[in-house]
Amino acid sequence: MRKNIVAGNWKMNNDLSQTQALIADLKQQKEAGRCEIMIAPTMPNLYNACELLRDSKIEVIGQNMHFASHGAYTGEVSASMLKGIGVNTVILGHSERRTYFNETDEMLAQKVDAALAHEMRVIFCFGEELKDRKAGNHEAVVATQIKNALFHLPERAWKHIVLAYEPVWAIGTGETATPEQAQEMHAFIRKAIENQYSAVLADNTSILYGGSVKPNNAKSIFSKPDVDGGLIGGAALQAEDFFTIVNAF
Ligand code: PEP
Repeated sequence: MRKNIVAGNWKMNNDLSQTQALIADLKQQKEAGRCEIMIAPTMPNLYNACELLRDSKIEVIGQNMHFASHGAYTGEVSASMLKGIGVNTVILGHSERRTYFNETDEMLAQKVDAALAHEMRVIFCFGEELKDRKAGNHEAVVATQIKNALFHLPERAWKHIVLAYEPVWAIGTGETATPEQAQEMHAFIRKAIENQYSAVLADNTSILYGGSVKPNNAKSIFSKPDVDGGLIGGAALQAEDFFTIVNAF
């Protein structure tokens, strides 16, 4: 059975004291218990966030990791380092990583393999740019991203994979895909998984939507049958907004 998930990607926001304050606010919020809740603070604050949320329902996750286990990769962290502080899930392939840090599908396939080798769960992000959608190539672009980074995996590995469809034109822009556009793409992705693997796996895979999900549009997006939650950027930086989205299920 696939799960509903709402994950907050804090990006490069919140220093230590701001991280502690936002976590304290998050702990005050009431939740309806209808989805898994995750937050991805910045790397230096992950350990403290894990400590502060040790007995809570909010899981602390990473925003990125390197594919190597250790070595001369200045500025990077490995899967085992994340696991060592209690981080068991990592976001990979965010469009900001692809755009600003030149992460390719091939590199992401290596990262996915490294995360799975450490029994981590992966939230794998992908999505088309505006030019692709305007040209009507959005499905082809997304299919290629998923195929290149994930279709080498055996079916059994997919229990550790969560997909996050994030049209690049909707991230941080205030422009959201309509619930219908999200549904259409999620159904397409599910069909691609069914074609490559099986209907059972397709049905069991959680597919999140990301791109300007806000308290006022979460309900309509989450109401779509193939949308299993959201990856939330800006609205995850305010506890009340984030939990309005969490409780939109
Ligand atoms: C994101 O960074 O994954 C994201 C969806 O950001 P925002 O919600 O701000 O568009």
